[in-house]
Amino acid sequence: MAELDRKIAEAQKVLDSLKAQQAYEEKLAPKYKLARMLHEKLCRYNHTDGCSWFYFVKGAEDDWTDYSHATYLAKAVRMLAAANGNGKVVLDVVEAM
Ligand SMILES: [Zn+2]
Repeated sequence: MAELDRKIAEAQKVLDSLKAQQAYEEKLAPKYKLARMLHEKLCRYNHTDGCSWFYFVKGAEDDWTDYSHATYLAKAVRMLAAANGNGKVVLDVVEAM
């Protein structure tokens, strides 16, 4: 029984972490969503030792002052500005990449 309780507690921790991540992602402004998507689609480095992205994710939240985060955020801001108020299209296009 103790083993089952331990496994349930572990699964609950994973579930809680995923829910926190989901809540964070749902409240992100479009520029942050796009920056995360651009990093995911374009970065070819190891995301810890290569680009350091995951060193600057605390829990579910990103540290946008990190060089890698700031670089992708700047790209996202430029793309959204170029879209001239139609950022949803940019997000859809990048998602389709
Ligand atoms: Zn990366």
